[in-house]
Amino acid sequence: MHDANYLIRRLAAAGPRDRVFATRPDGPEMSYGALFDGAARMAAALVRAGVAPGDRVAVQVEKSLEGVQLYLGTVMAGGVFLPLNTAYTGAEVAYFTGDAEPRVVVCDPAREGGTRSIAGDARVMTLDAGGGGTLVGAAASEAPAAAVARDADDLAAILYTSGTTGRSKGAMLSHANLASNSETLREVWGFTADDVLIHALPIFHTHGLFVATNVALLAGCSVHFLPRFDADAIIDAMPRATALMGVPTFYTRLLEHPGLTRERAANMRLFVSGSAPLLVETHERWEAATGHRILERYGMTETNMNTSNPLNGERRAGTVGFPLPGVELRVMAEGREVQTGEIGVIEVRGPNVFRGYWRMPEKTAEELRPDGWFITGDQGLVDADGYVTIVGREKDMIITGGFNVYPKEVEAVIDEVGRVRESAVIGVPHPDFGEAVVAVVVRAGEVDEAAIMGALGDLAKFKHPKRIVFAEELPRNTMGKVQKKALRDAHAGLFK
Ligand code: AMP
Repeated sequence: MHDANYLIRRLAAAGPRDRVFATRPDGPEMSYGALFDGAARMAAALVRAGVAPGDRVAVQVEKSLEGVQLYLGTVMAGGVFLPLNTAYTGAEVAYFTGDAEPRVVVCDPAREGGTRSIAGDARVMTLDAGGGGTLVGAAASEAPAAAVARDADDLAAILYTSGTTGRSKGAMLSHANLASNSETLREVWGFTADDVLIHALPIFHTHGLFVATNVALLAGCSVHFLPRFDADAIIDAMPRATALMGVPTFYTRLLEHPGLTRERAANMRLFVSGSAPLLVETHERWEAATGHRILERYGMTETNMNTSNPLNGERRAGTVGFPLPGVELRVMAEGREVQTGEIGVIEVRGPNVFRGYWRMPEKTAEELRPDGWFITGDQGLVDADGYVTIVGREKDMIITGGFNVYPKEVEAVIDEVGRVRESAVIGVPHPDFGEAVVAVVVRAGEVDEAAIMGALGDLAKFKHPKRIVFAEELPRNTMGKVQKKALRDAHAGLFK
């Protein structure tokens, strides 16, 4: 029944119908059969709501297994899944719906009114944290639909990344992009039907949605499905689990938990970290506490995963390992490939690399070369042994708790506040979040921290500065450009 849908045919192949796909702390188990039946009913409901092949289904919902079914159901319906961070405000969602022109928007019932007002012609349906809502109601009265035919190069998803210019870009991911990368990861990380993966990442981001979910489905293994990061629940699940995928913040928080011991982690075979740099210190403390060396990997929304430390072999702290099989990686500076050990901008090419930015051909042309090389914007090096190290970001993106914050977007809001002359938003080291957002503000009169914080309401909480520092002026170079590095250095100790 799934034969002609490239991605679904692969994802639905591994888990026999009666095998458990998911266990969860506060709900019944869900079998593979129930997962895909529910997804096929949602596909039928989406088709009835007007979704035709290639149509976008925008989704801003709390994490649930029904949310996973909605991802699969959208792809089965031939649609393009477009997940949105639950922290985004109505104003932010309005930009995405305006840009992507979805046929259907699925939101939490609490946001239904606001979503209707910005959804344009889209049909609005609901899905709540408990797995109820109008979408599920509509799906219940449908028979499971056969998956709609889709080819390798057809779009399966659009994931928005932030833009340094303030405008978010929709990364278009094809069926083959997603399938090839998860097949590679299953192989190199050794996932089998015997694994039990602790799934505590959000499913609106590439890490939790594609890396964790697709790898588990392809392996036909079970997931222990948590609605959010919860140190107690993860420690509790470890003796019954074999693998955890997390952002560095997961590991720093788990290290603070008194229940984290070698005995607790004895059944686990793999701890994966990515989405932001893992401190060498965290790597070492984790090994001391559990006896396991964290496997760090590197990827991004546009490319899925690019590199990984080895499953068998030396996992080197502070590095992101080797290019994955099938992925080419080079380091470029001034138009040429650099020598071993020299720093430049990382470029990657392979079946994992996206199809371009949605309706932004000029942005696509800037970052995706005609011969397939994608310019990641990450600066790094490859050492003599072939290990890749990320040294920083070409752009000044901040990654706080695994989420990306582009300074420009926050600066634009702060600069609008009365009696603010200008601002510079930077990321500084933070023991818990990796980086914390800090705003350096130059005043033109009487204005205090409360007035600035009060003006940030249209921005998601994770973008709000953790600290506002007032300064007489911003450091600039002779060309008039603000020296962010100098600011970062000056404020590096704020959270130490
Ligand atoms: P996103 O598109 O949200 O997944 O963010 C991608 C960016 O996160 C990359 O371009 C890197 O800058 C950063 N990133 C992801 N994984 C790592 C890692 N292991 N170490 C350092 N930076 C990382």
